[in-house]
Amino acid sequence: MYPLLTVNTTHLRQNVHVLTSLCAEHGIKITAVTKVFCGDPVIARVLTEEGITMLGDARTENLKKLQGIDAEKWLIRPPMLSEVSDLVAYADASLNSEMETVRAINDEALRQGRTHKVILMADLGDIREGYIDHDELIAAAIETEGLPGVELYGIGVNLTCFSFIQYDTEKLTQLAQLRKRVEEAVGHPLGIVSGGNSAAVDLMMRGGIPEGVDNLRLGESVLFGKERAKYQYLPDTFSDVFTLECEIVELKEKPSLPWGTVGVDSYGKKPEFTDRGGHRIKAICALGKQDLDVETTVSCDPDIILLGASSDHLMLDITDSSRSYKVGDTVKLKLGYFSTMRAFTSAYVSKRYI
Ligand SMILES: *Cc1c(COP(=O)(O)O)cnc(C)c1O
Repeated sequence: MYPLLTVNTTHLRQNVHVLTSLCAEHGIKITAVTKVFCGDPVIARVLTEEGITMLGDARTENLKKLQGIDAEKWLIRPPMLSEVSDLVAYADASLNSEMETVRAINDEALRQGRTHKVILMADLGDIREGYIDHDELIAAAIETEGLPGVELYGIGVNLTCFSFIQYDTEKLTQLAQLRKRVEEAVGHPLGIVSGGNSAAVDLMMRGGIPEGVDNLRLGESVLFGKERAKYQYLPDTFSDVFTLECEIVELKEKPSLPWGTVGVDSYGKKPEFTDRGGHRIKAICALGKQDLDVETTVSCDPDIILLGASSDHLMLDITDSSRSYKVGDTVKLKLGYFSTMRAFTSAYVSKRYI
């Protein structure tokens, strides 16, 4: 039963409304990103019920789970050559940066009698996926256009994920100009120009996304109400769509600091401890790094301190809490991005939807 993850679908619906109208004001269509919740179809259905028509995930396995849901499905990571047959079967579109892969998708699409939409990625500085050389991207677009099993759907960019390079009007203007060049080269308008992720929401709200960029792929902002340039919560959104209850298995008064010779942790780093003075009441909950990420988790009881976790033990300092906890009680945690991803990936976490 515990750890128990609760998905608040009412709060999620509200977040979808807020982001959808914000984006609509700026001529932006949303591809909602489902990778944080491992493509859980119950949650994906909530998104489509609230008007989302495009879903994106970084794993083909997750798109397979979304089969029964009426939306255009995108693989938002360059596909593996080894997964092309599942890709063509379960995804309608994918983000691409290797023509070898696009050719393989084309062959497979012809084999399966399906068609697949290709979005070519430009790298505008983050040094993750995409073409740095715009001429090379245009040549790829022309070749894609000539392949009978695929459709050149558009172009895109991703920033603020690896090098944490920020979105700005200059970079997205480069993308809009690239759109024009590609459209001239292939002789028809592109269906989509996908300008980025939740780190582009702040720029959008400041009116900084130029005409010609018409799509964002949004995970964090829709699910947590948080944009990722300044890491601010957006007005009228909820940050508690995902909460996790865990059970206390030990509760004892213990010293604030450990005793003995301190070694290094499994990353080779020497741990540091805060001296909160004297003895403190410490609780252990039955879950750990396998199920959550402490750094992107906060306690719903604001007086509980999250001390850290090992694989299967979460250590809490509950001394300052006004509630009197006992062994067998549960503690509620609010999960952020990576913590939610871990909780959904863990086979030990049960789920419920409210
Ligand atoms: C994960 C991902 C997104 C979504 O990012 P958020 O910051 O959660 O909105 C968008 N695009 C790509 C390519 C991604 O990998």
